[in-house]
Amino acid sequence: MTGGLTIVGLGPGPVHWIAPEASAAIAAASDIVGYQPYVDRIPERAGQRRHGSDNRVEIDRARHALTMAAEGKQVAVVSGGDPGVFAMAAAVFEAVEAGDPAWRSLEIGVIPGISAMQAAAARLGAPLGHDFCAISLSDNLKPWAIVERRLRAAADGDFVIAFYNPASKARPERIHQAFEILRGCKSAETPVAFARSVGREDERIVVTTLGEADPAAADMSTLVMIGSSETRFIDRPGKSPWLLTPRTYGAGR
Ligand code: SAH
Repeated sequence: MTGGLTIVGLGPGPVHWIAPEASAAIAAASDIVGYQPYVDRIPERAGQRRHGSDNRVEIDRARHALTMAAEGKQVAVVSGGDPGVFAMAAAVFEAVEAGDPAWRSLEIGVIPGISAMQAAAARLGAPLGHDFCAISLSDNLKPWAIVERRLRAAADGDFVIAFYNPASKARPERIHQAFEILRGCKSAETPVAFARSVGREDERIVVTTLGEADPAAADMSTLVMIGSSETRFIDRPGKSPWLLTPRTYGAGR
């Protein structure tokens, strides 16, 4: 029996943001592996086994999935957003790199999903219309000094910046430190947005400026967007403004 492993992106929340190919891979799987809340988002199916786990055991989860695939099972590893962005695709390939050489002969596929920064951008207007970067503020997997260096480099390069993992209960202060660094090197007028739980019932979007923003508005369900020097507001009556980063750099000056 030939097994296989598919790493599937579930998008930021709603079912209608999941690609048909992702739904088909989930339906075809004998075993579903993932962080428990993501596994919970998938309707139960007779005969299908579910293996939910804690968020901190990504590599163990990846090895477990690969072991089952090598035994002939059809495994779907589910991941929030896009599985390639701060998520399970890297964990699976890290496990392959360091693991049983036989795993390299397995059929392993990655099915893309809508990442949080894309969903947030869609709500905000067009903040990612020009060059941007994504930075995870979690220092669980890298030293904070690297984050600080990248923040300064991103500001120096005048990128729009999307922050993933901006805050958690274990590290509530990092987002405040990040804002302090950016306030030291970017204009106070820079548009900033906090896009929380995009696509879910508790969605909340706050549009503000770097000078006015309260970093405490960010939690672990928030994508924080920081504009470049070109990002601006388009005001509209009775609603918070759209964010626009124009396609052409320097045209508005
Ligand atoms: N693979 C995921 C990211 C995983 S890191 C993706 O591509 O989106 C987890 C972080 O993603 C969260 O801390 C938050 O910053 C962001 N995120 C995930 N879902 C979100 C949502 N619905 N709304 C806003 N941010 C979200």
